[in-house]
Amino acid sequence: MPDVVDVDLLLKGYTPEADGTFTVLDPSTGEPIAEVPRVTGAAVDRAVEEAARALPAWAATAPRRRAEILHAAHELMLAELEPLALLMSLEMGKTRADARAEVRYAAEFFRWFAEEAVRIGGELRIAPSGANRILTVHRPVGVALLLTPWNFPAAMATRKLAPALAAGCTALLKPAEDTPLTAIHLADLLARAGVPEGVVHVLTTDRPGELVERALADSRVRKLSFTGSTPIGRALLHQTADRIVNTSLELGGNAPFLVLEDADLDAAVEGAMFAKMRNGGQACTAANRFLVHPAVADEFAALLSARMAALTVGPGTDEATQLGPMVNARRQADLIARVDAAVSGGARVHTGGSALERPGFYYPATVLSRVDRGSVLSVEETFGPVAPIVEVADDDDAVALANSTEYGLAAYVYSADLGRALSVAERLQSGMVGVNRGAISDPAAPFGGLKQSGLGREGGFEGVHEYLEVSYLAVDW
Ligand code: NAD
Repeated sequence: MPDVVDVDLLLKGYTPEADGTFTVLDPSTGEPIAEVPRVTGAAVDRAVEEAARALPAWAATAPRRRAEILHAAHELMLAELEPLALLMSLEMGKTRADARAEVRYAAEFFRWFAEEAVRIGGELRIAPSGANRILTVHRPVGVALLLTPWNFPAAMATRKLAPALAAGCTALLKPAEDTPLTAIHLADLLARAGVPEGVVHVLTTDRPGELVERALADSRVRKLSFTGSTPIGRALLHQTADRIVNTSLELGGNAPFLVLEDADLDAAVEGAMFAKMRNGGQACTAANRFLVHPAVADEFAALLSARMAALTVGPGTDEATQLGPMVNARRQADLIARVDAAVSGGARVHTGGSALERPGFYYPATVLSRVDRGSVLSVEETFGPVAPIVEVADDDDAVALANSTEYGLAAYVYSADLGRALSVAERLQSGMVGVNRGAISDPAAPFGGLKQSGLGREGGFEGVHEYLEVSYLAVDW
């Protein structure tokens, strides 16, 4: 595999029946990089039909064989790390380092779920009355519709595809309209790994509502797994209610990053750089607000600003880039408006704070202090390299403020006293907490949120069960 991306060649192998095309832009220039098929109407029905037809044989394939295919996918993905990483930098704008890390993370889902595929168990119990046995079996839910966001085009897809395939489900993957090329590459890779025809379909479109409504109206689609924003997730939950479709949701976050007054500030800033700046701040787990004790707030702001100001900004495809562009013009405009509003509301700018004068969808690394607790930056999820610092009086105030949101995906706490950090972590209403650590995602851990951040878990031992249903047999013997 060459370390270059041949988009034309990639698209030559992807020829679904389509109603025209839509344009994918390079976020570092705003210029088009590809025209991708728009799959609609009857082509969606046909994909469902083929996935339903492929289901019985795939579900009956020996778990060891399914595992071998997933292992092959893991190896192929690592062998193709460079071109795949470059493709993501190109269509999404992430740095080369972030893209390489994502390919490794994404590939690991194939390995983890290959290992899980052969360990899907059942149970045998004696009924309390002693009259019979209770035998439980796990079966694949069926045809799964998988909807992924643009921010991790590979990992969000493999985090769904791998457990779906391990469980014996067939899948329709609809990638985000900003980043369909990575998904097309993944489908091709899975075919080469040995996934039988019909088992995985990639459906690209820039009219997601239309496609998803059509697929969800088909009674053969039994599973929806969605990663994206909370408003779209909520709307989809209404839609899946109509046919009681098994639904998993990984939604938005508003992660608090707590720095207690005894924290090791160098470690906290190191963790903050990862938790805030991975993927240019465009991660659902991204530290969204820094809740810092007044005794260390000035020093923390100075240290963080120095690190943020030193980042090299440029196209994701450049090896030297440490902060790439935002994914699209809408995201960039959103950041400009939010930071302007915070500054009008009295926030102090330490670094960044205004859009860069260059083509493409760039926004600079920005640190703001004295951010109002009620400001949009504190209350809503901000997707980008903006770090608002809010001072908190003590641990109780920090916990209360951290929890004063309808989101509950990720949180972080830094303290030199591990017992104190753990007791604060336990009080945070969050599906995942980094304790003296800015990196939390791990294919072996259950990823997911509380409150309006989602339903269900991906990865870990839990991940495969999102694609399995329990049946029980009452047995006399
Ligand atoms: P989004 O909700 O706009 O889009 C996500 C997906 O939904 C895309 O594939 C999009 O095409 C599709 N979609 C859009 N409108 C739809 C509709 N009406 N019906 C059906 N599908 C539709 O989100 P985004 O901007 O792509 O991603 C950013 C959001 O995703 C953030 O809120 C972020 O926190 C969240 N996210 C969550 C996780 C997690 O694991 N919890 C991971 C990554 C991103």
